[in-house]
Amino acid sequence: MPDDDIVLTSDPRQIGLFMEEMEDCDAFESTTQPSSIIKRPKNNRKEGDLPSPDQELVVATSGGKDSAAMALWLRFESGLPNPMHFVFNNTGHEHPFTLGYLKTLGDVLGQEVEEAPAQYTFLELAIKKKRFPSSMTRFCTEHLKILPMQRWIAEQNLIDPVICQGVRAEESARRAKMPVWDNTLGDFGNFYDIWRPVLRWSVEEVFAIHKRHDLEPNPLYKMGAGRVGCWPCIHVGLGELRNAFRRDADLLDRLRHMEAEVGKASPRGIATIFRPNFVPERFHDAVDSVSGKTICTIDAVHAYLMGTDNLTLFDDDEDVPTCMSQYGLCE
Ligand code: SF4
Repeated sequence: MPDDDIVLTSDPRQIGLFMEEMEDCDAFESTTQPSSIIKRPKNNRKEGDLPSPDQELVVATSGGKDSAAMALWLRFESGLPNPMHFVFNNTGHEHPFTLGYLKTLGDVLGQEVEEAPAQYTFLELAIKKKRFPSSMTRFCTEHLKILPMQRWIAEQNLIDPVICQGVRAEESARRAKMPVWDNTLGDFGNFYDIWRPVLRWSVEEVFAIHKRHDLEPNPLYKMGAGRVGCWPCIHVGLGELRNAFRRDADLLDRLRHMEAEVGKASPRGIATIFRPNFVPERFHDAVDSVSGKTICTIDAVHAYLMGTDNLTLFDDDEDVPTCMSQYGLCE
């Protein structure tokens, strides 16, 4: 799942993953043992509770519609007096529209959206790891989102911060199980509160608050993006990626370049952004030297998505209408 899926949680499995990634993080070493950290009791706030007035709100802002809706609500409609910090994790793999949109969002909010810099860009991280992340080894989220956010918070000396996450229950079964209030591992010894104030919102409510505050959602939605995140995210759907190829003339070359660079670092001599089963085997165009199995480079993915014999598979975007948004943004 893409960028707005920053999982900051008290889930021990997630914390374990986090600590694993910490060991690999050169710039920020923990002096606290995991066993001594996972001890804080669960947050016992109820759904409708608000943060204490003296807590500083760290509003995780991705450039997506849900986090923008949350930011607008917190700033203009919640009535909360708390200091607010709007923070963005730049993975170095963002669409320029998203970077421009965050500036616009900051103008509407009357406060700059600050950047929590990562130690590596998406490409640098893949080169360091000698492979691209995947759903099984999703190290990108930890290194490019969670760690930079944790580091940023630790550096600001905030008073009892609350991390505000713009996730909604409607979006997935996993998110539907999330509580509105939670805790997360903080600056390697403390926990922070997590608050998901728009968890129960519908997508209609999300677009309605944009309209009330005269803010257009990120233009990527009108280009057919289901979610805003890395461009493209490793979890992108076939139809969404096809839209991206059709709308972004430089995308294929950029992804080819990334595969070439990570391939140079890989002991296999090759690295592919997408898993082999992303496209049918008959489109595979390379062989993994270790497993002996066929794999698909970005050229194979592109050939499959843009090939004339596959058009019927993507009825949803066949006519490339002006607005390909999955949310009906064109009125
Ligand atoms: S590729 Fe980017 S958006 Fe997708 S899961 Fe990784 S960090 Fe998140």
